[in-house]
Amino acid sequence: MVRSNGPMTHGQPVFSPTPEPVPFAPDPRAVLPHAAEVVVVGGGMLGASAAYHLARAGMRPLLIEANAPASGASGRNAGMALAGLGGHFGRVNSIVQDVGGRSILDYTTRSLDMIESWDAELPGGLEWDRFGSLDLALDDVEEAHIRHMAEIQAAEGLEVRVVDDRAELRELATGLATDAVRAAKWTARDAKLNPFRLCYALLEATRALGGTVVTGVRVERLQASGGRVSGVSTSHGEVAAGAVLLATNAWTPALAPHLAANLTPIRETVCVTEMLPVSIGAPGFETNQCNEYWRQMRTGEVVIGGYAVADEGMGIGSYSTRVRPQVAPRLAELLARLHPALRDARIIRCWAGLLDFASLEIPMAGSLPAEDGTPLPGAFVAAGLTGHGHPYAPILGLLLAELIAEKQARTLSLAPFDPTRYVGVTHAPTWLDPFRGTEAPTPEYRSEPA
Ligand SMILES: Cc1cc2nc3c(=O)[nH]c(=O)nc-3n(C[C@H](O)[C@H](O)[C@H](O)COP(=O)(O)OP(=O)(O)OC[C@H]3O[C@@H](n4cnc5c(N)ncnc54)[C@H](O)[C@@H]3O)c2cc1C
Repeated sequence: MVRSNGPMTHGQPVFSPTPEPVPFAPDPRAVLPHAAEVVVVGGGMLGASAAYHLARAGMRPLLIEANAPASGASGRNAGMALAGLGGHFGRVNSIVQDVGGRSILDYTTRSLDMIESWDAELPGGLEWDRFGSLDLALDDVEEAHIRHMAEIQAAEGLEVRVVDDRAELRELATGLATDAVRAAKWTARDAKLNPFRLCYALLEATRALGGTVVTGVRVERLQASGGRVSGVSTSHGEVAAGAVLLATNAWTPALAPHLAANLTPIRETVCVTEMLPVSIGAPGFETNQCNEYWRQMRTGEVVIGGYAVADEGMGIGSYSTRVRPQVAPRLAELLARLHPALRDARIIRCWAGLLDFASLEIPMAGSLPAEDGTPLPGAFVAAGLTGHGHPYAPILGLLLAELIAEKQARTLSLAPFDPTRYVGVTHAPTWLDPFRGTEAPTPEYRSEPA
């Protein structure tokens, strides 16, 4: 197995850091049952989707979250929902096609449709606005990239086209400095939402269907007996269970160390402005191969994230969510350059979250094998969603619930996401190129034996 490449210093990325458990403050009042039909570990969008679908399938899931729901990446993201997966599309799609003959869009557009129906059905809604997205190309390289992406995404059936006409661009994006933009990729059915609402509404519905959500409790390890999973050991005692799903994102290797070689945590920063009286248009925005992105909330604030290239080691391999001061000025400068009316907009808060990158870009979702690759009945995992939780989590949560409740994913095949591909082998990351964008040199990938 590949272990740490050493401490991240002088800007060196660490691709397989020593696993760290999620930091948490134990809740002394937490009440944990002694047994559950199925335990879901993690209350982010993936765990919430899986628990909701398990409850709908008639099971009584127990979801255990170390902190609060959406305290991980799911409550720290920018709230963009992009069916085309940014720069990951081509490589992920070819894996999906090779394995099952389908398109990745069969999965991601289904996720967006699911969120849309939840927005309509779940009390309070999700602030879901399906107003499209604009991927802005600011230089030659980015323009070539968006044209290529538009071509391969359209060939798969995505409603996408390149807009070069300045007047049309101005119409789509009020106040955009069109002189600074070469062209833009317009994806009409993309959307934006409030990611907190997504997690909380699903968990509320899970409770209403008979599921249980316990917070302030950390799962310390999986328990196995007789060659299969028998439950979990937690900060608050043991829970017997016939099935356990790890929906633990960047912290998954703390519970499944054999996945560490192919799962890299990456710190990324998001800032939010004060409430602004100006509208920057209805769509969400991205640029630089989806490495910077922003959306205006219904209440007027602009949420903008990215610029990992400005972080130490590009944030690659860090479990720390301390905000680096050099990132916010870059985000503010980008916003002011592209939306001059926001030149004086004040950033009022910044935070950082952990992305979780699977080495071959395609997430892992399905049965979790044992360290030697043999089946471990009752163990399931979903992790490595890269920067695209919204197009993945709803559908993967459904398919995992089907696998757990009915022994087989019915709606679509889970085969392209088979976690076995990531066990007992170390893949050099294929995501480095889209991740670094057009600004930074490709970081050197090093994997050292333990
Ligand atoms: C800065 C940033 C911006 C992003 N922007 C977007 C975007 O605009 N659009 C998009 O689609 N995606 C975006 N993403 C990606 C998206 O947020 C993630 O893919 C998604 O949230 C992952 O969901 P999850 O449920 O797997 O993980 P998380 O939300 O991280 O949830 C995992 C949960 O597991 C809990 N946990 C971990 N270990 C344990 C344990 N041992 N016991 C109990 N609980 C445990 C954690 O506390 C955490 O709450 C962004 C991510 C970041 C960090």
